[in-house]
Amino acid sequence: MIRNVLISGAGVAGLALAYWLDKAGMSVTVVELAPEFRRGGQAIDVRGVALDVIRSMGLYDQVYALRTRLKGMSTLDANGVELERTEERTHSAGRLDSDDIEIFRDDLCELLIGALSERVEIHYGQSISALREEGDEVRVTFASGEEQSFDLVAGADGVYSRTRKLWFDHEAEVIRSLGVVLAIFTTPNFIGLKDWQLIHREEGLGYVIYPNLDQTELRISVGFAPGDAPMARGDVQAQKEMIAARCAGLGGHFPEFIKALQNGSQLYYNELAQIRAPTWSRGRVVLAGDAAHCASPFSGQGTSLALVGALVLARALVHNSDQLPDAMAEYEQRMRPFVLMNQDMVDMTRRTHIPDEVLTRSKNGIDIRDLLAEVA
Ligand SMILES: Cc1cc2nc3c(=O)[nH]c(=O)nc-3n(C[C@H](O)[C@H](O)[C@H](O)COP(=O)(O)OP(=O)(O)OC[C@H]3O[C@@H](n4cnc5c(N)ncnc54)[C@H](O)[C@@H]3O)c2cc1C
Repeated sequence: MIRNVLISGAGVAGLALAYWLDKAGMSVTVVELAPEFRRGGQAIDVRGVALDVIRSMGLYDQVYALRTRLKGMSTLDANGVELERTEERTHSAGRLDSDDIEIFRDDLCELLIGALSERVEIHYGQSISALREEGDEVRVTFASGEEQSFDLVAGADGVYSRTRKLWFDHEAEVIRSLGVVLAIFTTPNFIGLKDWQLIHREEGLGYVIYPNLDQTELRISVGFAPGDAPMARGDVQAQKEMIAARCAGLGGHFPEFIKALQNGSQLYYNELAQIRAPTWSRGRVVLAGDAAHCASPFSGQGTSLALVGALVLARALVHNSDQLPDAMAEYEQRMRPFVLMNQDMVDMTRRTHIPDEVLTRSKNGIDIRDLLAEVA
């Protein structure tokens, strides 16, 4: 029987999984590397069947209320001069007349945390440093030195998952770099941008800028080809310098944004990659969300996959609670075709528009009413 579960990572996948497992009566502990709830990040999209998942969590109205309300976008040249504008779509959300919801990642995570019962424990500033299986349990050593045993450990710790690195032997083959660094930072909205998006694209460099909901901040994401430069993992100052160097040719307000970046504290910096893992579980450790199957922001589907995958995994665990191998098989069998469809779309097109066949419930083979009947 799976009674107590440790989840590594309090992102969308980890929090959604915590919600469903707790609801099914399991004892759930979440450890999150960040020292406290992490603000920042760009808007992410909740689409198609993931909207049904949000509805079934009772969060649709709140998610809808916090949606970004961008009215359109301008494409700028390297000097910040407008080349064209549209009120039909934005770069980040696609068509504005669709049912998709675009919401800031931190707002969605906050809503997911609010939906958790008091039974779920979240420990910030904590992470797994070692795992070993002992009989019917996994013995976990935390970075703090403490040890505890769980029936199951779920690694929902993002694209460069530590759980995956620690436990699986396929690490070298699963990461497919897309050759782009994505940097996201926040600055005060000193340019008075209101409900509008600014984008620029040139060979090897591009940015997307828009204000947060109360228009006081700008969320700025810059994508660039790193070339031969080292990734500077964990070295925030080196990362800031790399962004400044890559953006040195941008005019308009951009030099002011770079100045604000130097003084700012929020920076997300990662090399975009897809994760194509041959298996998502080994024994009593399972992967979820980006850790298992990141499709990359090029897909626009990472958050939707995380939400759907959490429900599929929870359902598989509840349905096969005393047969873990069957649960793991069910999880992969149901989820893999949906994941592959999304990942292949990126390989094929690298575009953010999602074709209908990826979104429609009838064709993607995932009907959450069936899943909910077992979990909720
Ligand atoms: C700060 C941040 C900003 C992002 N911004 C964007 C964006 O603008 N656009 C976009 O498309 N995608 C963004 N993403 C990725 C996007 O959130 C995911 O693709 C998607 O939501 C799937 O979520 P996930 O929970 O699987 O992974 P993630 O959202 O990456 O969440 C993983 C969580 O695990 C935590 N973690 C990492 N390592 C450890 C560890 N060793 N131990 C414990 N916890 C750990 C991370 O801090 C994070 O909270 C962002 C991710 C992060 C962490």
